[in-house]
Amino acid sequence: MSNLRFQALNAVLSRSIPDVKIPSSKISDFYGSNVFDKKKMKDFLSKEAFQSISNSIDLAEPLNREVSEQIATAMKSWAMAKGATHYTHWFQPLTGTTAEKHDSFFEPGHDGQAIERFSGDALVQQEPDASSFPNGGIRNTFEARGYTAWDPSSPAFIMESKSGKTLCIPTVFVSYTGEALDYKAPLLKALSALDKAAVDVCHYFDKSIEKVNASLGIEQEYFLVDLALFNARPDLLLTGRTLFGHMSAKGQQLEDHYFGTIPERVYAYMLDFETEALKLGIPLKTRHNEVAPSQFECAPIYEEINLAIDHNQLLMDIMEKVAKRHNFKVLLHEKPYAGVNGSGKHNNWSIITNTGKNLLSPGKTPKNNLMFLTFFVNTVRAVYEHADLMRSSIASVSNDHRLGANEAPPAIISIFLGSQLNDVLDEIETSRISKKIKEDNGLWLGIPKIPQILLDNTDRNRTSPFAFTGNKFEFRAVGSSANSSAPMTILNTVVADQLVKFKVEVDKLIKKGEKKDIAILTILKRYIKESKDIRFEGNGYSDEWEQEAAKRGLSNIKTTPKSLDADVSEKSMELFEKTKVFSKREAHARHEIRLESFYKKLQIEARIMGEIVNNVIIPASITYQSKLVQNVIGLKEIGLAEDTYAAQLQIINKLSEHINFIKTNVDQMIEERKTANAIEDLRDKSIAYDEKVKTFFDPIRYHVDKLEQLVDDSQWPLPKFRELLFIK
Ligand code: ADP
Ligand code: MG
Repeated sequence: MSNLRFQALNAVLSRSIPDVKIPSSKISDFYGSNVFDKKKMKDFLSKEAFQSISNSIDLAEPLNREVSEQIATAMKSWAMAKGATHYTHWFQPLTGTTAEKHDSFFEPGHDGQAIERFSGDALVQQEPDASSFPNGGIRNTFEARGYTAWDPSSPAFIMESKSGKTLCIPTVFVSYTGEALDYKAPLLKALSALDKAAVDVCHYFDKSIEKVNASLGIEQEYFLVDLALFNARPDLLLTGRTLFGHMSAKGQQLEDHYFGTIPERVYAYMLDFETEALKLGIPLKTRHNEVAPSQFECAPIYEEINLAIDHNQLLMDIMEKVAKRHNFKVLLHEKPYAGVNGSGKHNNWSIITNTGKNLLSPGKTPKNNLMFLTFFVNTVRAVYEHADLMRSSIASVSNDHRLGANEAPPAIISIFLGSQLNDVLDEIETSRISKKIKEDNGLWLGIPKIPQILLDNTDRNRTSPFAFTGNKFEFRAVGSSANSSAPMTILNTVVADQLVKFKVEVDKLIKKGEKKDIAILTILKRYIKESKDIRFEGNGYSDEWEQEAAKRGLSNIKTTPKSLDADVSEKSMELFEKTKVFSKREAHARHEIRLESFYKKLQIEARIMGEIVNNVIIPASITYQSKLVQNVIGLKEIGLAEDTYAAQLQIINKLSEHINFIKTNVDQMIEERKTANAIEDLRDKSIAYDEKVKTFFDPIRYHVDKLEQLVDDSQWPLPKFRELLFIK
């Protein structure tokens, strides 16, 4: 039997492209057909019930029991008519994936007759066992149960799979003692803090605004690899990234992949998952090749933030499921291949009022521009103030490979504004708020003109982790596998808190007799000055920037364990308590969960690295070496001179050198792992894994990759980069 690599390569050769059935060539015919959206609710519910659920969706009003009974019945009828047999609460535990616990509609009746039932209670609440999900010690209290509770602001949907259909109800997941055990609950709290704070500030300008919500457009980058090749790489299989692999002769150096033609096989896959996504109301709009070979991106049109995040989580699920039908594996890891670009998940964020106004969009009039500047400058100020928390919000073992690497934002949080807005802020900062202007009763004309279309923001700085892109901020440092709730909870929280502070300061000035517009501008002017250090327009990947940032006192925490300190710093605790986003207990629990996940993932990587070296690489190298030895012995035997087998001897020596290196280093790494495992404190343990264990990865890899270049290609057991990276 040939090795797994060649079996896989053969499998790839015989791939055919599966037929993709699209329900209609007109997307509007099937868009959202698997969603129990407002329109369907209207059809299925009484007028009163519909009004009540609408208020619950739009204004977060609680639902009464009777209405939830009605909605449950309606949902069941709709779902069963579409062929669903089960329902589940769908939630986002801190594992990073989504979770489901399926129950059937079927219930035995009193008289032995079966009926299909779905009660209001079952809609509103379910009780999965909280102790089986990461809970950071919260389970250690006597109450292990948790419950999921319906989030009416995200509609129920039907998940189709080969063997059946399930009604999924988006929920939050909390412990019985009330602590959030998921990503969604804190996000909703942060949004409610933002809503309140932003509406208050909006009222300086427009009293008709009643509600403010954030919007989010998520660009998702990913790699595709053939399933058979993926399965032949234990490192990819268990860690999502390649721990070894010499760079392919051709990589991304020709820059011929970005926006290039999409390979036929990939195109079929995209069409297939897009169709599934569109049925679920995920407004996918763009698709294209990314920079690296086999790297792609898709992006939906932006939506209300909570929904956008649910949709992204769902999208990642669908992408993985559909990939199987096409014999692909989708890699959402931030850095599957060393030496080519990594993947991100750009979070395009803005704040939008119930009147439809984007508060981060420059306006036509000075008054509108003052409103724009207010939200714009407060966001900059908030990110400056809590830069460390923003940094920690994107930290993960996988994103550590990407931050600071040459294609992605460095671990320094800075903000790119574009030269036009930079000039505007500079002008405000240096201009004097003169007496003459103060006496002007009309609209305040001292605000510099802001063009409605910001030209230089279309050609934006790709090296900035947080960039203003015309009418929104783009948080680019978020990793491709992340649940966007984590960074978005932080962003919305820091902005909410900042707006509250702003309001207090402006009100104080107004109370002292200052005119409102002048008061606002006075405070903004101060904020601009205070937060100046975080603004950076240059090349964020350059060494100069690292030096400059250090001079400015900006932090540059390169890896996760220490960056997570910000999650539980005194300053953050105060912020979380004030905004009611996390209690102390929740913040500590989350910190613990994140540290645990960090070191455990490194532990898995270290283990699989050791296994592959000992059981795959060394045996293959020795087999080849033995062949050479046999060859040398033979040549000697027939009486040839030493210079006729000099090359063989050289290779034999080289092989031994690399084999020795990887063997001794793997042994040492195992010792370091044991030492790290014995450490109790999670932070210290994670740091030990980061600084003592992980440091072996690169040197071991280097020598394995050298072996890959020496050993007979027909004997090499792992699919090579050139085979993984190019889709046939
Ligand atoms: P690029 O790759 O150049 O960054 P894309 O067009 O791929 O740009 O992605 C831009 C994303 O930003 C899309 O998801 C888009 O819907 C979203 N977006 C546009 N306007 C807003 C807005 N006001 N708020 C949030 N997201 C927005
Ligand atoms: Mg982008």
